[in-house]
Amino acid sequence: MIITIDGPAGAGKSTVSREVAKRLGFLYLDTGAMYRACALFMLQKGIPLDNEELISSHLKDLNIKFKNGRIFLNGEDVSDKIRTPEIDLAASDISRIPSVRKKLTSIQRSIGENSDLVAEGRDMGTVVFPNADLKLFLTASPEERAKRRKKELYKKGDIISLDIILHQIKKRDKADTERAIAPLKPAEDSITLDSSNLSAEEVVKEIIKFANSIDRRKR
Ligand code: C5P
Repeated sequence: MIITIDGPAGAGKSTVSREVAKRLGFLYLDTGAMYRACALFMLQKGIPLDNEELISSHLKDLNIKFKNGRIFLNGEDVSDKIRTPEIDLAASDISRIPSVRKKLTSIQRSIGENSDLVAEGRDMGTVVFPNADLKLFLTASPEERAKRRKKELYKKGDIISLDIILHQIKKRDKADTERAIAPLKPAEDSITLDSSNLSAEEVVKEIIKFANSIDRRKR
């Protein structure tokens, strides 16, 4: 079974997807982390993120693997390094490039071939797994998402004003929704959940309920 959870930055996709996967015993695939790792790789090489040709030619040296909930870039655990405001925007920039999407989509599909999966991202239900068994679009108001992000950053010791975070979230939403390929949008056959007034636990329970009803119908 494949469950896709798409939605804008800060809607709570990661927390919810990880927990749904854990409770169902499925693999959790964080595709945002893959775009982040790819952006980090190019930045480390000093490649400008708008240089499509150079980026494409370096993709063959990009090796991304997940192990025990951590992400490895060419053998190095970069799970913490990819969670910075700089990489937030860099990932969004690089995700516009067709060759990058092609490479990451193909890795994502090959992971999906071998396991039951909760796949989280922007284009999981629309492009990567169009035949997924259950598709969710998880959203929340920009203000609520900014508040959550601020709390998350605060826990890591980063104190950034709500205004700046809100501005960045809106900027990323715009870039992700308006890009030419695989833009952020709900799949036609997806269920939209607005988490503005719901706790993560409430969202998780709702998704598990949907998953169980699909599982019963399939059996
Ligand atoms: O989900 P996360 O915030 O980690 O994603 C970082 C960026 O990666 C997003 O802003 C988006 O531009 C890109 N992304 C994407 N397609 C996905 C997952 C993430 O374009 N499936």
